[in-house]
Amino acid sequence: MRHRIAVVGGGPAGLTFARVLHHHGHPVTVLERDPAPGARPPGGTLDLQEGLGQLALEKAGLLAEFRALSRPEGQAMRILDTDGTVLRDWRPGPDDRANPEIDRGHLRDLLLGPLDVRWGRNVTRVAPGPRDGAVVHFADGRRETFDLVIGADGAWSRTRPAVSPVTPHYTGVTSVETSLDDVDIRHPDLARLIGDGSVAVYGANRSLVAQRNSGGHVKVYAKFRAPLDWHGSPDPADDEALRSSLLTLFDGWAAPVLDLLRRGTAFVHRPFHTLPVSHTWTHVPGVTLLGDAAHLMPPLGAGANLAMLEGAELAESLATGSGDPDEAVRAFEERMWARAGKWAQITTAGLERLVSPDPAEALALFDRVQPS
Ligand SMILES: Cc1cc2nc3c(=O)[nH]c(=O)nc-3n(C[C@H](O)[C@H](O)[C@H](O)COP(=O)(O)OP(=O)(O)OC[C@H]3O[C@@H](n4cnc5c(N)ncnc54)[C@H](O)[C@@H]3O)c2cc1C
Repeated sequence: MRHRIAVVGGGPAGLTFARVLHHHGHPVTVLERDPAPGARPPGGTLDLQEGLGQLALEKAGLLAEFRALSRPEGQAMRILDTDGTVLRDWRPGPDDRANPEIDRGHLRDLLLGPLDVRWGRNVTRVAPGPRDGAVVHFADGRRETFDLVIGADGAWSRTRPAVSPVTPHYTGVTSVETSLDDVDIRHPDLARLIGDGSVAVYGANRSLVAQRNSGGHVKVYAKFRAPLDWHGSPDPADDEALRSSLLTLFDGWAAPVLDLLRRGTAFVHRPFHTLPVSHTWTHVPGVTLLGDAAHLMPPLGAGANLAMLEGAELAESLATGSGDPDEAVRAFEERMWARAGKWAQITTAGLERLVSPDPAEALALFDRVQPS
C-alpha cells in the first residue's frame, strides 16, 4: 500500500487507527490540533469492553500492556437512593475483565508509543479532490494533499462537511463535571462512599455519578434536563456560581452525596450533543470519518470503544487488503454504519432512562445490564 494517508485528530479513534497501521508497518500522518500530548486535561476514565475497545488494542498488539495499566476493580458500581440508602452494591469477580477502566491519559500514552504525531496542526477544512485524494487546509494557511484523509476529529469535526452536512444537536440533557483530588487522604468519607469504582444516585430528571480515576482522582458528573443556555452566569468558568446552582438543583439529597459537589473543584459545563441515530453519507472517494466525527452519541460507555474498534478495523483492512483502498473504505463504512446505528439507538434510549422523570427506570436499566 503506497497511499499517503492522514488522520485528523489524535483521540482514541485516530491514535488506534494510526497505531494499527504502524503495527502493520505502514506510514501514516497524524494531524492533531493540541500543541502537545498533555496540553489539556484528558477527561475522565474510560471503560473498554472486551469485544470493542479491548479487541482494538489486541489488533494493535497492545492488549497485554493495557491489562497491566487498567483497573478491573474500577468496574464496581454502587447505586444510592437520594436519601443515601444503598440500593445496589455490585463488585466484579476476581477474574472479571469485561469492562476494566483506564485513565484517558494512560490510554493516549499507550497508543502514542512510537507514533510520530504532528502536534499543533489545526485543520480548518478538508476538500475532496484533486482526482481521488483530498486537500487538508490548516488554520495557519498551509495546505497538504493526501490520497486518503480520515476525519477522527470528534464531535465538532472539521472533516465531516466534506462528506455530510449534518451537525450535532442538543439532547436536552446537560452535565456539569467537577473533580476531587487525593480522595483517600483528603476526603476518606467520600472515598468510602465511592468505593473502588463508581457511585450513582438517580432522582427525577437528574443524577449524580462519582467515578474513580487512578491516583485518588475522582470525577463527579451532575446530569439533568435543562435548556442549552441553562447557566445564565456571565462567567461559565465561575466555580462558585456553578456549585451554588447545582446545590439548589439537588436540594434535599443526602448530605454525603451533596458533599461531592460542595468539595469539588474545577467545574466544567458539558451539554450532551448527538448526531442523528443512523447517520450515513454518500461515499466520497479520498475522505471518510471515524468515531464521534461519524456518530456522536450519548456518553454511555460506547463512544470510545466504537471509535477504537473502527480505527483498528479500517487500518487492518487497508494494510492487509490486496484490492483497491477505496473499496476497503466503502466496505468499512457500511460495517461502521450498521454497528454504530445499533449503539446509537441503545445509548439514546439509555440516556432517556438514566435521566428520567421516574428514577426506577435507571435502576431497572442497571439490573438488566448487571444482573448478578
Ligand atoms: C463524560 C463522558 C464520559 C465518557 N465515558 C466513556 C466511556 O466510559 N467509554 C466509552 O467508550 N466512551 C465514553 N465517552 C465517549 C468518548 O469520550 C468519545 O466517544 C471518544 O472520545 C471519541 O473518540 P474520538 O477519537 O472519535 O474523538 P475525540 O476523543 O473527541 O478526539 C478527537 C481529537 O481530534 C482533535 N481535533 C479536534 N478538532 C481538530 C482539528 N480541527 N484539527 C486537528 N485535530 C482536531 C482533538 O483535539 C482530539 O484529540 C464518554 C464521553 C463523555 C463526555
